[in-house]
Amino acid sequence: MYDVIIIGAGPAGLTAALYASRAELSVLILDKDAPGGKLLKTAEVENYPGTKSITGPDMAMQWFEHATAFGATFDYGNVLDIVDLGKTKKVITDVAEYDTYAVIIATGTKERLIGVPGEDSLYGRGVSYCAVCDGAFFKGKNMAVIGGGNSALEEALFLSKLANKVYLVHRRTGFRAEPGIVKHVQATPNIEMKLEYLPVSINGQEKVESLTIKNVHTNQEEVLDVAAVFPFIGADPESRFATRLGITNDQGYIVVNEKMETKIPGIYGAGDVNNKILRQIVTAGNDGSIAAIEISHYVDRMKAED
Ligand code: NAP
Repeated sequence: MYDVIIIGAGPAGLTAALYASRAELSVLILDKDAPGGKLLKTAEVENYPGTKSITGPDMAMQWFEHATAFGATFDYGNVLDIVDLGKTKKVITDVAEYDTYAVIIATGTKERLIGVPGEDSLYGRGVSYCAVCDGAFFKGKNMAVIGGGNSALEEALFLSKLANKVYLVHRRTGFRAEPGIVKHVQATPNIEMKLEYLPVSINGQEKVESLTIKNVHTNQEEVLDVAAVFPFIGADPESRFATRLGITNDQGYIVVNEKMETKIPGIYGAGDVNNKILRQIVTAGNDGSIAAIEISHYVDRMKAED
């Protein structure tokens, strides 16, 4: 029986583990992948206060070591269901079942697919959603990044250090990315912007050989000679296992109050999976710390009733 089970070992989950274990709760962190969440797929973090620049994987390692330094334990598992038994909850993964007083859902988001021919069949053969993981395979070649948000522009900058040339394909002339990153991309000589273009197909037999794009006004197509395509067109919440609980909104984000409580006592949400306005490492950490401290009060109340 745990005091709290944290589902997801990204910045929100790891911060929750740190605060909860320092509050002397027994803590289990579950993740289906290695700890770090999106940090593992982030080339460089430049906006975490007090740290001018650090690679995402280095930050993930430091956060994991810190999160487990006060007794929190980690286990692998793909969570399939959370059963609300009132005072306690059961967390069911593909390999085990666990009992706990409280649960924090901190599962983040999953990359959206662009949905063009070739995206699925050439996945892992030039189509990738992780520039840090796969960029080096295409060193010296041309690559394409799709999207106009922070992820697309940051990863285009990372890839520009490896690529002969990076095409940044975006459907508008305006960007969701921060202006500073946009300026940096514009000043990078081997990034060519293809603005007001949409992807049409990713082409190749065994591996990616080119990307067909079309102008949004004229529909005129153009074929870009690239060995890799990195779509970064946003993300959807990883919350399917929680749908049955009725704690998500119609887009699948977890709805919480300022204490990170869902409408089910003992079930909390934290980080990017929550319905919120700013998805950042610091805001994920913020949510995780609040959820952990609220849970320490909640578990005290539950144990007092035992
Ligand atoms: P995002 O901000 O939602 O941007 C998605 C981009 O993809 C937009 O430019 C969008 O175009 C484009 N797009 C969406 N659907 C498309 C489609 N079907 N075809 C072509 N283009 C499409 O997503 P994100 O960049 O993954 O960022 C997610 C969240 O994480 C954001 O809140 C972001 O600020 C945050 N984040 C922050 C940092 C940082 O601060 N360093 C780094 C990474 C991510 P439109 O603009 O035309 O809609």
